[in-house]
Amino acid sequence: MRLRNITGSRETIAASPYVIQEAVQPKCPGNWKDIFGNENPLHIEIGMGKGKFIHTMAKAHPEINYIGIEKYSSVLLRAIQKMEREELSNLKFLRMDAENITSVFGPGEVDRIYLNFSDPWPKDRHAKRRLPSGEFLARYRVILKPGGKLEFKTDNRDLFDFAVGELEPAGWKAELVTYDLHGDEELLKGNVMTEYEEKFSAMGNPICKYIISPDGPAGK
Ligand code: SAM
Repeated sequence: MRLRNITGSRETIAASPYVIQEAVQPKCPGNWKDIFGNENPLHIEIGMGKGKFIHTMAKAHPEINYIGIEKYSSVLLRAIQKMEREELSNLKFLRMDAENITSVFGPGEVDRIYLNFSDPWPKDRHAKRRLPSGEFLARYRVILKPGGKLEFKTDNRDLFDFAVGELEPAGWKAELVTYDLHGDEELLKGNVMTEYEEKFSAMGNPICKYIISPDGPAGK
């Protein structure tokens, strides 16, 4: 998702109490419990867009700490505006490229990772940029706690097939794979729709989802 540049978005982000500022990010690994001031589990969404999913999740689960990660200022601004309308003490934002995710979370610090409707990067030469690629799975493995899980949803069948194919070579196992989340009443219980999910499911696109976990210890 890229929105047109919004004048002042960088300044708004730089002044926002909801954003962990770039200068502070190097101090974050291993210190998220101090940042939130509690011992609660840590769940992150990578590529959160305008933040509907993570804001809804944080509101529903005050016993969990949430971080929304977004690369673009103009998009992050929308999530900040949502927080200004309804402030939540268990939600914070990082403006960064997820490529550098291991520089903000310590080994085993994250309990759950959400990827929702990640950019498909359809050209083969860009496959490494896909957020569910083997390259990214290697980074997620480092920051995930033993027993931690990653959930991925998309309506893009090509991207989903690619993502499923990456699991075994990267040393991950699937606990759930569905090609029609909205057609399964049981799986749909507790499902929080993202902005893209609302849009594409309304168009009749089936929504794919997997839940995965590392197969074996970190560093494999
Ligand atoms: N998750 C939201 C949803 O489901 O409605 C937004 C989906 S949108 C297609 C993908 C988002 O991921 C965009 O806002 C994009 O800027 C962000 N993104 C893509 N690559 C990223 C990266 N490497 N690091 C951080 N954010 C990224």
